[in-house]
Amino acid sequence: MNEPLVARMREFGTTIFSEMTALAVRTGSINLGQGFPDTDGPASMLEHAVTAIRGGLNQYPPGPGMPELRQAVAEHRKQHYGLLYEPDGEILVTVGATEALAASVLALCEAGDEVILFEPYYDSYAAAVALSGAVRRTVALRPAGDRFTFDPDELRAAVGPRTRAILVNSPHNPTGTVFTRDELALVAAVCQEHDLIAITDEVYEHLTFDGVEHVPMATLPGMRERTVMISSAGKTFSATGWKIGWVCGPPELVAAVQSVKQFLTFTSGAPWQVAVAHALREELGWVAGARDALAAKRDRLMAGLSAAGFGVYRPAGTYFVQTDIRPLGFTDGAELARRLPELAGVVAVPTQVFYDHPELGRQFLRFAFCKKDEIIDEAVMRLARLGRAE
Ligand SMILES: *Cc1c(COP(=O)(O)O)cnc(C)c1O
Repeated sequence: MNEPLVARMREFGTTIFSEMTALAVRTGSINLGQGFPDTDGPASMLEHAVTAIRGGLNQYPPGPGMPELRQAVAEHRKQHYGLLYEPDGEILVTVGATEALAASVLALCEAGDEVILFEPYYDSYAAAVALSGAVRRTVALRPAGDRFTFDPDELRAAVGPRTRAILVNSPHNPTGTVFTRDELALVAAVCQEHDLIAITDEVYEHLTFDGVEHVPMATLPGMRERTVMISSAGKTFSATGWKIGWVCGPPELVAAVQSVKQFLTFTSGAPWQVAVAHALREELGWVAGARDALAAKRDRLMAGLSAAGFGVYRPAGTYFVQTDIRPLGFTDGAELARRLPELAGVVAVPTQVFYDHPELGRQFLRFAFCKKDEIIDEAVMRLARLGRAE
């Protein structure tokens, strides 16, 4: 048989996360590659799922999602952001943010349309754009002091007659940057000038540090009506295996996304949906505690990486710290990531895989700090060997 995979998907191999996690398992290394926490979410949320399963909530939930979850999402948007969304018609529950992103791009972009991504980008974006037959244009995020940002002229230059949407991820994986209100306003202005849709990936909305505020794009003037806002319970409630996400937006955009979503999965996870509804209502205190613990883990890992000789950027949010490997005498993150298990018994992710222009990210390695303190300490101890090996 000829290559069975359709041409538009051939540039995408196995996701880097599977590859690096397999490498960690094979070599017995500490996995600071994939961003999943090694502790559970709030106990009452877990109990709610168990109770729901025992109580017989085991058949298809409604296509748009369990009403109580959509209601809880609406209340949460209102309380946190002052954003009003109708549970019926403006909120759609999805199989994690991943399905929300894919369904949004598939629903809203025609073949040949262009979608602007900030690179480095979360790897599913490019695949979703390719599946839809649309074309991606990238705008680089470059280091500026401790964080990463974009050049507004570069953003404007990326817009053309076929541009349909801009995909914005803040807090940003993999750089840890949280876009400021001014940066978001620049993106918003471009969306409004060129009548573009903003698709926003806000899965780390609650995981910002040092008092840095997460500003949803939809709260900017004129943006609610053109923004598809995507969130997920996975990162917020430390339950990445549950895959419960949601889309909020104006009715015509959400209806379009649902048209696609219904034929991808129709619906999913009834017991998890009601458990997440409970957590959104009752467990945001737990989330605040988890965020503070995460900030401390960030500091712990940053200190260790600096001591080991890495250049370290200070993330204002997310699970990840971005490092520069050049102070250690290395130049290529992909090569170092492959050798890191043998050199130090640790796995990290080469940031260059998140670029269309990998040369922009060759020197970066991404480490996850959503791990137990003793795991971080052990990783740091092992990484200290690196400097000595040179
Ligand atoms: C983890 C992650 C996702 C995927 O979210 P799920 O709810 O697990 O599908 C999407 N975007 C970013 C930036 C992520 O880090």
